[in-house]
Amino acid sequence: FKTINDSLGHQAGDELLIQFSLRLQQLLRHEDLLVRMGGDEFVVLISEQFKDSRQAALQAQRLATHLLDALGEPLQVMDNEIQTSVSLGITVFPFQTADGLDDVIRQADTAMYHAKSKGRNQIRFFHEELERQARRRLKLESELRTALDEQQFEIYYQPQVSSASGLLVGAEALLRWRHPEKGLLEPAEYIQIMEDTGLIVSAGRWLLEEIVRQVKAWSSAGYCHDQMRVAVNISPSQLQIDGFGDWVEKLLERYDLSPACLIFEITETLLLPDDSACVDVMQHLERLGITFSVDDFGTGYSSLFVLQRSSIGQLKIAQQFVHDLKSATTLEDRSRSNALALIRAIVSMAKALGMGVVAEGIETPLQRKMLEQQGCDRMQGFLFSHPVKADEMSRLLDRQLTQSQPHVPPPADGR
Ligand code: C2E
Ligand code: MG
Ligand code: MG
Repeated sequence: FKTINDSLGHQAGDELLIQFSLRLQQLLRHEDLLVRMGGDEFVVLISEQFKDSRQAALQAQRLATHLLDALGEPLQVMDNEIQTSVSLGITVFPFQTADGLDDVIRQADTAMYHAKSKGRNQIRFFHEELERQARRRLKLESELRTALDEQQFEIYYQPQVSSASGLLVGAEALLRWRHPEKGLLEPAEYIQIMEDTGLIVSAGRWLLEEIVRQVKAWSSAGYCHDQMRVAVNISPSQLQIDGFGDWVEKLLERYDLSPACLIFEITETLLLPDDSACVDVMQHLERLGITFSVDDFGTGYSSLFVLQRSSIGQLKIAQQFVHDLKSATTLEDRSRSNALALIRAIVSMAKALGMGVVAEGIETPLQRKMLEQQGCDRMQGFLFSHPVKADEMSRLLDRQLTQSQPHVPPPADGR
Protein backbone atom coordinates (compact mmCIF):
# COMPACT_ATOMS: atom_id res chain seq x y z
CA PHE A 1 0.00 0.00 0.00
CA LYS A 2 2.81 2.35 0.91
CA THR A 3 4.54 1.69 -2.43
CA ILE A 4 1.39 2.68 -4.31
CA ASN A 5 0.95 5.87 -2.28
CA ASP A 6 4.57 6.78 -2.89
CA SER A 7 4.70 5.93 -6.59
CA LEU A 8 1.18 6.72 -7.91
CA GLY A 9 0.16 9.38 -5.41
CA HIS A 10 -2.36 9.59 -2.58
CA GLN A 11 -5.35 9.83 -4.89
CA ALA A 12 -4.47 6.43 -6.34
CA GLY A 13 -3.97 5.10 -2.80
CA ASP A 14 -7.47 6.29 -1.81
CA GLU A 15 -8.96 4.79 -4.94
CA LEU A 16 -7.25 1.48 -4.17
CA LEU A 17 -8.71 1.46 -0.66
CA ILE A 18 -12.18 2.09 -2.07
CA GLN A 19 -11.89 -0.63 -4.69
CA PHE A 20 -10.46 -3.05 -2.17
CA SER A 21 -13.19 -2.35 0.40
CA LEU A 22 -15.89 -2.80 -2.23
CA ARG A 23 -14.49 -6.13 -3.25
CA LEU A 24 -14.16 -7.25 0.35
CA GLN A 25 -17.73 -6.16 0.99
CA GLN A 26 -18.96 -8.24 -1.95
CA LEU A 27 -17.29 -11.31 -0.49
CA LEU A 28 -19.10 -11.00 2.82
CA ARG A 29 -22.68 -11.48 3.81
CA HIS A 30 -25.02 -8.62 4.63
CA GLU A 31 -24.92 -9.45 8.34
CA ASP A 32 -21.11 -9.54 8.59
CA LEU A 33 -19.37 -6.46 9.94
CA LEU A 34 -16.56 -4.87 7.93
CA VAL A 35 -14.48 -2.06 9.42
CA ARG A 36 -11.43 -0.22 8.23
CA MET A 37 -9.30 0.22 11.32
CA GLY A 38 -6.93 2.73 9.71
CA GLY A 39 -4.20 2.62 7.06
CA ASP A 40 -4.57 -0.63 5.15
CA GLU A 41 -5.95 -2.64 8.07
CA PHE A 42 -9.45 -4.07 8.06
CA VAL A 43 -11.44 -6.04 10.57
CA VAL A 44 -14.15 -8.51 9.61
CA LEU A 45 -16.46 -9.66 12.34
CA ILE A 46 -18.48 -12.78 11.69
CA SER A 47 -21.07 -13.73 14.21
CA GLU A 48 -22.50 -17.20 13.97
CA GLN A 49 -23.60 -20.05 16.17
CA PHE A 50 -21.27 -23.02 16.16
CA LYS A 51 -21.23 -26.22 18.12
CA ASP A 52 -17.75 -25.47 19.41
CA SER A 53 -14.68 -23.38 18.70
CA ARG A 54 -13.26 -26.11 16.47
CA GLN A 55 -16.22 -25.80 14.10
CA ALA A 56 -15.95 -22.01 14.20
CA ALA A 57 -12.24 -22.20 13.42
CA LEU A 58 -12.88 -24.48 10.48
CA GLN A 59 -15.45 -22.10 9.05
CA ALA A 60 -13.12 -19.13 9.62
CA GLN A 61 -10.31 -20.97 7.85
CA ARG A 62 -12.59 -21.66 4.87
CA LEU A 63 -13.69 -18.06 4.62
CA ALA A 64 -10.12 -16.79 5.00
CA THR A 65 -8.92 -19.03 2.17
CA HIS A 66 -11.76 -17.78 0.02
CA LEU A 67 -10.93 -14.13 0.82
CA LEU A 68 -7.27 -14.71 0.10
CA ASP A 69 -8.05 -16.12 -3.34
CA ALA A 70 -10.53 -13.43 -4.30
CA LEU A 71 -8.46 -10.54 -2.99
CA GLY A 72 -5.48 -11.74 -4.99
CA GLU A 73 -7.25 -10.84 -8.25
CA PRO A 74 -5.92 -7.56 -9.73
CA LEU A 75 -7.82 -4.29 -9.12
CA GLN A 76 -8.25 -1.51 -11.67
CA VAL A 77 -7.04 1.74 -10.12
CA MET A 78 -6.90 4.83 -12.36
CA ASP A 79 -5.70 3.03 -15.49
CA ASN A 80 -3.35 0.84 -13.51
CA GLU A 81 -3.86 -2.81 -12.86
CA ILE A 82 -2.80 -3.40 -9.29
CA GLN A 83 -2.20 -6.71 -7.62
CA THR A 84 -2.60 -6.73 -3.86
CA SER A 85 -1.59 -9.31 -1.33
CA VAL A 86 -3.12 -9.71 2.11
CA SER A 87 -2.12 -11.12 5.46
CA LEU A 88 -4.94 -12.57 7.52
CA GLY A 89 -5.07 -13.04 11.29
CA ILE A 90 -7.94 -14.95 12.89
CA THR A 91 -9.22 -15.26 16.38
CA VAL A 92 -12.24 -17.17 17.56
CA PHE A 93 -14.35 -16.03 20.49
CA PRO A 94 -15.68 -16.57 23.02
CA PHE A 95 -12.70 -18.75 23.75
CA GLN A 96 -10.96 -19.45 27.03
CA THR A 97 -8.53 -16.52 26.97
CA ALA A 98 -10.40 -13.63 25.34
CA ASP A 99 -11.54 -10.97 27.75
CA GLY A 100 -13.61 -8.23 26.11
CA LEU A 101 -13.57 -6.64 22.66
CA ASP A 102 -10.15 -4.99 22.97
CA ASP A 103 -8.66 -8.33 23.76
CA VAL A 104 -10.31 -9.96 20.76
CA ILE A 105 -8.97 -7.28 18.39
CA ARG A 106 -5.53 -7.52 19.95
CA GLN A 107 -5.54 -11.28 19.37
CA ALA A 108 -6.54 -10.85 15.71
CA ASP A 109 -3.83 -8.20 15.35
CA THR A 110 -1.19 -10.48 16.85
CA ALA A 111 -2.26 -13.28 14.54
CA MET A 112 -2.17 -10.90 11.56
CA TYR A 113 1.42 -9.79 12.36
CA HIS A 114 2.36 -13.40 12.70
CA ALA A 115 0.87 -14.07 9.24
CA LYS A 116 2.71 -11.05 7.83
CA SER A 117 6.02 -12.27 9.16
CA LYS A 118 5.55 -15.51 7.21
CA GLY A 119 5.41 -13.71 3.84
CA ARG A 120 2.59 -12.70 1.51
CA ASN A 121 -0.91 -14.13 1.45
CA GLN A 122 -0.68 -16.06 4.69
CA ILE A 123 -3.34 -16.96 7.24
CA ARG A 124 -2.59 -17.42 10.92
CA PHE A 125 -4.74 -18.11 13.96
CA PHE A 126 -4.18 -16.62 17.37
CA HIS A 127 -4.77 -20.06 18.88
CA GLU A 128 -2.29 -22.32 17.18
CA GLU A 129 -4.03 -25.52 18.20
CA LEU A 130 -7.24 -24.38 16.51
CA GLU A 131 -5.24 -23.51 13.45
CA ARG A 132 -3.56 -26.91 13.40
CA GLN A 133 -6.92 -28.67 13.70
CA ALA A 134 -8.52 -26.58 10.97
CA ARG A 135 -5.58 -27.19 8.65
CA ARG A 136 -5.56 -30.91 9.33
CA ARG A 137 -9.24 -31.11 8.59
CA LEU A 138 -8.97 -29.12 5.34
CA LYS A 139 -6.05 -31.29 4.27
CA LEU A 140 -8.11 -34.42 4.89
CA GLU A 141 -10.96 -32.90 2.90
CA SER A 142 -8.79 -32.34 -0.12
CA GLU A 143 -7.10 -35.73 0.24
CA LEU A 144 -10.53 -37.36 0.36
CA ARG A 145 -11.47 -35.68 -2.89
CA THR A 146 -8.47 -37.22 -4.64
CA ALA A 147 -9.02 -40.52 -2.85
CA LEU A 148 -12.13 -41.20 -4.87
CA ASP A 149 -10.52 -40.23 -8.19
CA GLU A 150 -7.45 -42.30 -7.46
CA GLN A 151 -9.43 -45.28 -6.19
CA GLN A 152 -7.93 -45.37 -2.72
CA PHE A 153 -11.15 -46.70 -1.21
CA GLU A 154 -11.63 -50.38 -0.51
CA ILE A 155 -14.57 -52.42 0.64
CA TYR A 156 -14.30 -54.93 3.46
CA TYR A 157 -16.96 -57.48 4.31
CA GLN A 158 -17.72 -58.59 7.84
CA PRO A 159 -19.47 -61.98 7.88
CA GLN A 160 -22.86 -62.44 9.52
CA VAL A 161 -23.84 -65.82 10.89
CA SER A 162 -27.27 -67.33 11.42
CA SER A 163 -28.04 -68.13 15.06
CA ALA A 164 -30.11 -71.11 14.09
CA SER A 165 -27.67 -72.88 11.77
CA GLY A 166 -24.28 -71.29 12.38
CA LEU A 167 -24.13 -70.78 8.61
CA LEU A 168 -22.75 -67.73 6.93
CA VAL A 169 -25.78 -65.77 5.83
CA GLY A 170 -24.23 -62.59 4.58
CA ALA A 171 -21.98 -59.74 5.50
CA GLU A 172 -21.88 -56.06 6.23
CA ALA A 173 -19.90 -54.03 3.72
CA LEU A 174 -17.57 -51.55 5.41
CA LEU A 175 -15.62 -48.76 3.81
CA ARG A 176 -11.85 -48.48 4.21
CA TRP A 177 -9.48 -45.82 2.92
CA ARG A 178 -5.99 -46.83 1.94
CA HIS A 179 -4.26 -43.51 2.54
CA PRO A 180 -1.03 -43.20 0.51
CA GLU A 181 1.01 -42.25 3.61
CA LYS A 182 -1.04 -43.26 6.64
CA GLY A 183 -2.09 -46.74 5.48
CA LEU A 184 -5.51 -48.27 6.05
CA LEU A 185 -7.89 -45.87 7.79
CA GLU A 186 -11.17 -46.77 9.46
CA PRO A 187 -14.34 -44.77 8.83
CA ALA A 188 -14.33 -43.03 12.23
CA GLU A 189 -11.55 -40.82 10.92
CA TYR A 190 -13.32 -39.58 7.82
CA ILE A 191 -16.98 -40.63 7.40
CA GLN A 192 -18.17 -37.47 9.16
CA ILE A 193 -16.03 -35.32 6.87
CA MET A 194 -17.47 -37.10 3.86
CA GLU A 195 -20.94 -36.43 5.20
CA ASP A 196 -20.23 -32.77 5.86
CA THR A 197 -18.72 -32.16 2.44
CA GLY A 198 -21.23 -34.20 0.48
CA LEU A 199 -18.46 -36.52 -0.74
CA ILE A 200 -20.39 -39.44 0.71
CA VAL A 201 -22.84 -39.12 -2.18
CA SER A 202 -20.33 -39.84 -4.94
CA ALA A 203 -18.38 -42.30 -2.78
CA GLY A 204 -21.66 -44.01 -1.87
CA ARG A 205 -22.56 -44.39 -5.53
CA TRP A 206 -19.23 -46.03 -6.29
CA LEU A 207 -19.53 -48.21 -3.20
CA LEU A 208 -22.99 -49.48 -3.99
CA GLU A 209 -22.10 -50.31 -7.56
CA GLU A 210 -18.99 -52.19 -6.41
CA ILE A 211 -21.03 -54.13 -3.85
CA VAL A 212 -23.76 -55.00 -6.34
CA ARG A 213 -21.11 -56.23 -8.78
CA GLN A 214 -19.48 -58.33 -6.05
CA VAL A 215 -22.71 -59.83 -4.75
CA LYS A 216 -23.70 -60.71 -8.31
CA ALA A 217 -20.37 -62.51 -8.71
CA TRP A 218 -21.00 -64.47 -5.48
CA SER A 219 -24.49 -65.28 -6.63
CA SER A 220 -23.26 -66.47 -10.06
CA ALA A 221 -20.69 -68.67 -8.32
CA GLY A 222 -23.58 -70.37 -6.53
CA TYR A 223 -22.66 -69.05 -3.09
CA CYS A 224 -25.94 -67.29 -2.44
CA HIS A 225 -28.83 -69.13 -0.89
CA ASP A 226 -32.15 -67.50 -0.13
CA GLN A 227 -31.01 -66.28 3.31
CA MET A 228 -27.94 -64.59 1.90
CA ARG A 229 -27.90 -60.80 2.31
CA VAL A 230 -25.23 -58.16 2.15
CA ALA A 231 -25.78 -55.07 4.28
CA VAL A 232 -24.68 -51.65 3.05
CA ASN A 233 -24.50 -48.53 5.21
CA ILE A 234 -26.50 -45.80 3.54
CA SER A 235 -25.99 -42.27 4.78
CA PRO A 236 -28.88 -39.81 5.13
CA SER A 237 -27.55 -37.55 2.38
CA GLN A 238 -27.56 -40.47 -0.06
CA LEU A 239 -31.23 -41.18 0.52
CA GLN A 240 -32.00 -37.52 0.12
CA ILE A 241 -30.57 -37.08 -3.36
CA ASP A 242 -33.16 -36.81 -6.07
CA GLY A 243 -33.75 -40.00 -7.95
CA PHE A 244 -31.83 -42.27 -5.57
CA GLY A 245 -34.57 -44.89 -5.70
CA ASP A 246 -34.60 -44.97 -9.51
CA TRP A 247 -30.83 -45.08 -9.64
CA VAL A 248 -30.73 -48.13 -7.35
CA GLU A 249 -33.48 -49.82 -9.34
CA LYS A 250 -31.58 -49.37 -12.61
CA LEU A 251 -28.33 -50.50 -11.03
CA LEU A 252 -29.91 -53.76 -9.90
CA GLU A 253 -31.41 -54.27 -13.34
CA ARG A 254 -28.11 -53.60 -15.02
CA TYR A 255 -26.35 -56.25 -12.94
CA ASP A 256 -29.38 -58.50 -12.88
CA LEU A 257 -29.20 -58.84 -9.11
CA SER A 258 -32.19 -59.64 -6.94
CA PRO A 259 -32.98 -56.74 -4.55
CA ALA A 260 -33.57 -59.37 -1.87
CA CYS A 261 -29.78 -59.79 -1.65
CA LEU A 262 -29.37 -56.31 -0.18
CA ILE A 263 -29.98 -54.76 3.20
CA PHE A 264 -29.72 -51.00 3.56
CA GLU A 265 -28.56 -49.96 7.02
CA ILE A 266 -29.76 -46.53 8.02
CA THR A 267 -29.49 -44.55 11.22
CA GLU A 268 -32.35 -43.76 13.51
CA THR A 269 -32.22 -40.08 12.62
CA LEU A 270 -33.63 -40.95 9.22
CA LEU A 271 -36.78 -42.20 10.85
CA LEU A 272 -37.79 -38.81 12.17
CA PRO A 273 -41.41 -38.36 11.16
CA ASP A 274 -40.95 -35.08 9.28
CA ASP A 275 -38.65 -36.48 6.61
CA SER A 276 -41.36 -37.52 4.19
CA ALA A 277 -39.11 -37.43 1.09
CA CYS A 278 -36.95 -40.12 2.70
CA VAL A 279 -40.00 -42.16 3.62
CA ASP A 280 -41.06 -42.15 -0.06
CA VAL A 281 -37.65 -43.34 -1.28
CA MET A 282 -37.55 -46.01 1.40
CA GLN A 283 -40.98 -47.27 0.44
CA HIS A 284 -39.96 -47.37 -3.21
CA LEU A 285 -36.86 -49.45 -2.41
CA GLU A 286 -38.73 -51.62 0.03
CA ARG A 287 -41.33 -52.43 -2.65
CA LEU A 288 -38.47 -53.52 -4.89
CA GLY A 289 -37.47 -56.01 -2.23
CA ILE A 290 -34.60 -54.34 -0.39
CA THR A 291 -34.70 -54.75 3.38
CA PHE A 292 -34.12 -51.72 5.58
CA SER A 293 -32.31 -52.17 8.84
CA VAL A 294 -31.94 -49.63 11.65
CA ASP A 295 -28.25 -49.50 12.61
CA ASP A 296 -27.18 -48.98 16.22
CA PHE A 297 -30.79 -49.33 17.31
CA GLY A 298 -31.43 -48.03 20.79
CA THR A 299 -28.96 -45.16 20.77
CA GLY A 300 -30.99 -42.66 18.74
CA TYR A 301 -34.49 -41.41 18.92
CA SER A 302 -36.82 -43.45 16.78
CA SER A 303 -40.33 -43.18 17.97
CA LEU A 304 -42.31 -46.37 18.18
CA PHE A 305 -44.93 -44.72 16.04
CA VAL A 306 -42.49 -44.33 13.15
CA LEU A 307 -41.29 -47.90 13.52
CA GLN A 308 -44.81 -49.15 13.17
CA ARG A 309 -45.50 -47.04 10.10
CA SER A 310 -42.22 -47.35 8.26
CA SER A 311 -40.87 -50.02 5.99
CA ILE A 312 -38.22 -51.28 8.38
CA GLY A 313 -37.50 -55.00 8.11
CA GLN A 314 -34.71 -55.41 10.63
CA LEU A 315 -33.30 -53.89 13.80
CA LYS A 316 -29.58 -53.96 14.48
CA ILE A 317 -28.97 -53.81 18.20
CA ALA A 318 -26.50 -51.10 19.19
CA GLN A 319 -23.04 -52.41 20.07
CA GLN A 320 -23.15 -50.69 23.46
CA PHE A 321 -25.76 -53.15 24.72
CA VAL A 322 -23.81 -56.11 23.39
CA HIS A 323 -20.67 -54.70 24.96
CA ASP A 324 -22.33 -54.41 28.36
CA LEU A 325 -23.13 -58.13 28.27
CA LYS A 326 -19.41 -58.72 28.59
CA SER A 327 -19.08 -57.13 32.00
CA ALA A 328 -17.28 -59.43 34.36
CA THR A 329 -17.22 -57.78 37.75
CA THR A 330 -20.02 -57.75 40.31
CA LEU A 331 -19.98 -53.96 40.16
CA GLU A 332 -20.84 -54.14 36.49
CA ASP A 333 -23.50 -56.78 36.95
CA ARG A 334 -26.18 -54.18 37.01
CA SER A 335 -25.25 -52.82 33.60
CA ARG A 336 -25.20 -56.36 32.28
CA SER A 337 -28.68 -57.15 33.56
CA ASN A 338 -29.96 -53.81 32.27
CA ALA A 339 -28.46 -54.45 28.84
CA LEU A 340 -29.98 -57.90 28.80
CA ALA A 341 -33.40 -56.51 29.70
CA LEU A 342 -33.20 -53.93 26.92
CA ILE A 343 -32.08 -56.51 24.38
CA ARG A 344 -34.96 -58.74 25.40
CA ALA A 345 -37.36 -55.81 24.93
CA ILE A 346 -35.92 -54.91 21.51
CA VAL A 347 -36.11 -58.50 20.28
CA SER A 348 -39.68 -59.01 21.41
CA MET A 349 -40.77 -55.71 19.91
CA ALA A 350 -39.06 -56.57 16.62
CA LYS A 351 -40.65 -60.01 16.52
CA ALA A 352 -44.08 -58.57 17.30
CA LEU A 353 -43.69 -56.17 14.38
CA GLY A 354 -42.44 -58.93 12.08
CA MET A 355 -38.88 -57.64 11.90
CA GLY A 356 -35.59 -59.52 12.03
CA VAL A 357 -32.92 -58.77 14.65
CA VAL A 358 -29.15 -58.65 14.21
CA ALA A 359 -26.58 -58.17 16.92
CA GLU A 360 -23.15 -56.78 16.13
CA GLY A 361 -19.96 -56.35 18.12
CA ILE A 362 -20.06 -59.92 19.48
CA GLU A 363 -16.61 -60.77 20.82
CA THR A 364 -17.08 -63.58 23.32
CA PRO A 365 -18.91 -66.93 23.39
CA LEU A 366 -20.85 -65.71 26.42
CA GLN A 367 -22.22 -62.70 24.54
CA ARG A 368 -23.16 -65.00 21.70
CA LYS A 369 -24.95 -67.41 23.97
CA MET A 370 -26.95 -64.68 25.69
CA LEU A 371 -27.97 -63.12 22.37
CA GLU A 372 -29.02 -66.47 20.97
CA GLN A 373 -31.09 -67.15 24.05
CA GLN A 374 -32.84 -63.82 23.57
CA GLY A 375 -33.76 -64.77 20.02
CA CYS A 376 -31.41 -62.74 17.83
CA ASP A 377 -31.53 -64.11 14.27
CA ARG A 378 -28.19 -63.01 12.96
CA MET A 379 -24.86 -62.30 14.58
CA GLN A 380 -21.81 -60.30 13.61
CA GLY A 381 -18.60 -59.56 15.46
CA PHE A 382 -14.93 -60.32 15.95
CA LEU A 383 -15.88 -63.69 17.52
CA PHE A 384 -16.87 -64.87 14.05
CA SER A 385 -14.62 -62.74 11.89
CA HIS A 386 -13.09 -59.33 11.52
CA PRO A 387 -14.04 -57.46 8.35
CA VAL A 388 -12.19 -59.13 5.46
CA LYS A 389 -11.50 -58.33 1.82
CA ALA A 390 -13.80 -59.72 -0.87
CA ASP A 391 -11.46 -62.57 -1.85
CA GLU A 392 -11.26 -63.83 1.73
CA MET A 393 -15.05 -63.61 1.94
CA SER A 394 -15.24 -65.65 -1.29
CA ARG A 395 -13.00 -68.26 0.31
CA LEU A 396 -15.28 -68.52 3.35
CA LEU A 397 -18.34 -68.81 1.13
CA ASP A 398 -16.62 -71.40 -1.02
CA ARG A 399 -15.65 -73.48 2.00
CA GLN A 400 -19.22 -73.41 3.23
CA LEU A 401 -20.52 -74.49 -0.18
CA THR A 402 -18.02 -77.24 -0.94
CA GLN A 403 -17.67 -78.72 2.52
CA SER A 404 -21.17 -77.92 3.76
CA GLN A 405 -19.29 -76.80 6.77
CA PRO A 406 -20.95 -74.15 8.94
CA HIS A 407 -18.87 -71.08 9.49
CA VAL A 408 -19.00 -71.70 13.21
CA PRO A 409 -20.40 -74.76 14.93
CA PRO A 410 -23.71 -74.31 16.74
CA PRO A 411 -23.18 -73.66 20.46
CA ALA A 412 -22.52 -76.66 22.67
CA ASP A 413 -24.81 -77.08 25.66
CA GLY A 414 -23.83 -75.44 28.89
CA ARG A 415 -21.30 -73.00 27.44
P1 C2E B 1 -21.55 -49.56 11.91
O1 C2E B 1 -22.34 -49.64 10.64
O2 C2E B 1 -22.30 -49.70 13.18
O3 C2E B 1 -20.45 -50.69 11.73
C1 C2E B 1 -20.02 -51.56 12.72
C2 C2E B 1 -18.64 -51.23 13.19
O4 C2E B 1 -18.29 -52.10 14.27
C3 C2E B 1 -17.56 -51.44 12.14
O5 C2E B 1 -16.57 -50.44 12.35
C4 C2E B 1 -16.98 -52.80 12.52
O6 C2E B 1 -15.65 -52.99 12.08
C5 C2E B 1 -17.05 -52.74 14.03
N1 C2E B 1 -17.08 -54.04 14.63
C6 C2E B 1 -17.51 -55.19 14.08
N2 C2E B 1 -17.42 -56.22 14.94
C7 C2E B 1 -16.92 -55.72 16.08
C8 C2E B 1 -16.60 -56.30 17.37
O7 C2E B 1 -16.77 -57.49 17.62
N3 C2E B 1 -16.11 -55.46 18.31
C9 C2E B 1 -15.94 -54.13 18.07
N4 C2E B 1 -15.43 -53.37 19.05
N5 C2E B 1 -16.22 -53.55 16.87
C10 C2E B 1 -16.72 -54.33 15.89
P2 C2E B 1 -16.07 -49.55 11.16
O8 C2E B 1 -15.85 -50.38 9.97
O9 C2E B 1 -14.94 -48.77 11.72
O10 C2E B 1 -17.28 -48.60 10.85
C11 C2E B 1 -17.68 -47.59 11.74
C12 C2E B 1 -18.90 -46.88 11.22
O11 C2E B 1 -18.61 -46.17 10.00
C13 C2E B 1 -20.03 -47.82 10.82
O12 C2E B 1 -20.72 -48.20 11.94
C14 C2E B 1 -20.84 -46.97 9.88
O13 C2E B 1 -21.68 -46.10 10.59
C15 C2E B 1 -19.77 -46.15 9.19
N6 C2E B 1 -19.49 -46.74 7.89
C16 C2E B 1 -18.66 -47.78 7.58
N7 C2E B 1 -18.69 -48.04 6.26
C17 C2E B 1 -19.57 -47.17 5.71
C18 C2E B 1 -20.06 -46.94 4.39
O14 C2E B 1 -19.71 -47.62 3.44
N8 C2E B 1 -20.97 -45.93 4.21
C19 C2E B 1 -21.42 -45.18 5.26
N9 C2E B 1 -22.30 -44.24 5.02
N10 C2E B 1 -20.99 -45.37 6.52
C20 C2E B 1 -20.08 -46.35 6.74
MG1 MG C 1 -23.68 -50.60 9.93
MG1 MG D 1 -23.78 -50.45 13.94
